[in-house]
Amino acid sequence: MTTALTPTAPWRATILTLYPEMFPGPLGLSLSGDALARGAWDCEARNIRDHGLGRHRSVDDTPAGGGAGMVLRCDVLAAAIDSAAAPDDPRPRLLMSPRGRPLTQARVRALAGGPGLVVVCGRFEGVDERVIAGRGLEEVSIGDYVLSGGEIAAMVLVDACVRLLPGVMGKEASGVEESFEGGRLEYPHFTRPRDWEGHSIPEVLTGGNHAAIARWRAAESLRLTRARRPDLLGPDLLAPDARKDP
Ligand code: SAH
Repeated sequence: MTTALTPTAPWRATILTLYPEMFPGPLGLSLSGDALARGAWDCEARNIRDHGLGRHRSVDDTPAGGGAGMVLRCDVLAAAIDSAAAPDDPRPRLLMSPRGRPLTQARVRALAGGPGLVVVCGRFEGVDERVIAGRGLEEVSIGDYVLSGGEIAAMVLVDACVRLLPGVMGKEASGVEESFEGGRLEYPHFTRPRDWEGHSIPEVLTGGNHAAIARWRAAESLRLTRARRPDLLGPDLLAPDARKDP
């Protein structure tokens, strides 16, 4: 297996936001920060307000039809997107949105395998609906709750992608065995000390029998997934009492 430690065209995240100073933020530390410093990926935050209108560089207006809050203008957002990504830019264009398709590890893996992302971060009540189709934005949600802006959601998305880039994680294997890969939650981990507050590490893990360890981990993985996330499992893997009658 070859690992591209210095890819010629780094994976590139362009983030459109009213708060570019939030980036790289936490992405500039630890695993993603080291990879950023090495040039394995690139983080470009662009200010939507640079395309704002008038003396006050206004970016939003009141909702048509009335109601609380403000809406990001489609003309302003479109200008920001057009200046950030040429029409032939191959990167997918995403809009962070609680109405979007929930993000999954499979989608993250696909995005990490591409050239990068252009991500629009909403604020206020959201964005004028017309810019979504007008600029081919794919709405992505990070979960069924509402944040005050798309920036933290974009960080979640970019972090999940960056750790899968070639050479970013210490061991190639750690990306394959963890939660959601293979449709299961990960098995429990233990490390020293062997005994702690009356609880010891399961004996099988310290016995050195690798086949037995693999069996134990697979069984724990299935047990946890059945208990916590049966929705991840096919009907054949559900515990007998959780199966629906045919
Ligand atoms: N009025 C909207 C919520 C706007 S929240 C509604 O009820 O659907 C402001 C911005 O935060 C959104 O435009 C989006 O960019 C971001 N945001 C909020 N929750 C999010 C979530 N769960 N996933 C992704 N982005 C989210």
